[in-house]
Amino acid sequence: MLIDGHGRKVTYLRVSVTERCNFRCQYCMPEKPFSWVPKENLLSFEELFLFIKRAIDEGIEKIRITGGEPLLREDLDTFIAMIYDYKPDIDLALTTNGYLLPQVARRLKTAGLKRLNISLDSLRPETAKAIAQKDVLSHVLQGIDEALKVGLGIKINMVPLKGINDDEILDVMEYCRERDIKVRYIEYMENRHANEALRGMHGKEILAKIKERYTIKALGREGSSPSFNYRIEENGYEFGLIDPHKHDFCESCNRIRLTAEGYLIPCLYFDEAMSIAEHVKKGDVEAAAEVLAQVLRDKPKENRWSEEKPNEEAISSRAFYQTGG
Ligand code: SAM
Ligand code: SF4
Repeated sequence: MLIDGHGRKVTYLRVSVTERCNFRCQYCMPEKPFSWVPKENLLSFEELFLFIKRAIDEGIEKIRITGGEPLLREDLDTFIAMIYDYKPDIDLALTTNGYLLPQVARRLKTAGLKRLNISLDSLRPETAKAIAQKDVLSHVLQGIDEALKVGLGIKINMVPLKGINDDEILDVMEYCRERDIKVRYIEYMENRHANEALRGMHGKEILAKIKERYTIKALGREGSSPSFNYRIEENGYEFGLIDPHKHDFCESCNRIRLTAEGYLIPCLYFDEAMSIAEHVKKGDVEAAAEVLAQVLRDKPKENRWSEEKPNEEAISSRAFYQTGG
């Protein structure tokens, strides 16, 4: 069993498999040219898997593959199959921008993937283009259709931004409701890599928009998830809100992150990280497990995003495309 320094049971590992991305979202990596290819010192799937097997043996029950854009990593389905074959009942999920799903959704499903979170910030081609800095919407919508067709479970992630897509909160909800998919609204998390002109919507502002049309009932958190669930009384539809500015979910945080280069990250907000790269490259899984134990001992109590106007302390220097969100 994996227990951190604050007595929390850690059961969830997020694995970022690349920093590369085919989008340039305003809240993530807006200034990187499309020609930018990070000088990644990637761990091979075998090296990542060596650590993952040990983490599963020690108590990890859920794994999410993320990035950058994970579908850019070649043969990702082989990696998924390695994890699935080792433990078929593991909760195995992936977060993607959806662009490449039309080509790969079926292969992912066959490999053993159970669930997908797909980012969908707008249903207007021009707004989606303004956020991702590329004409992406039709591919993403086709990707969602294909993933539904092959039977993958889907949730949609939307980051509402003031003056950009804040008028689409209900439209995205309706799109999801019609397809029986859950939407989760994510508060924009201030970070040094984002477009600094962006203003995110706080959870209460997102809820206020929804309340303009509907009556909502608070249901509570989904286990240890940062998502707080609500139900629309008029039609029974349930949606989620991820509001890290509140920190109340930090007390039940059950997750750690592994980057594509082998850094273990105990909290999305902080810079602290420790590498297992050298150990897994040598096949020394005991040494990697020692690093994991150290990272768990040092896991911070809570993040420092704040509901106040963003100040220096409330802006993270972590890049979401490195940690995988
Ligand atoms: N490329 C994939 C995608 O976009 O879904 C996976 C990686 S992305 C970093 C994971 C999630 O982080 C996405 O849902 C994205 O919307 C979210 N994200 C990125 N930057 C964010 C920010 N500054 N605040 C809130 N969410 C953010
Ligand atoms: Fe790429 Fe995802 Fe970051 Fe957008 S949020 S730039 S899709 S990694």
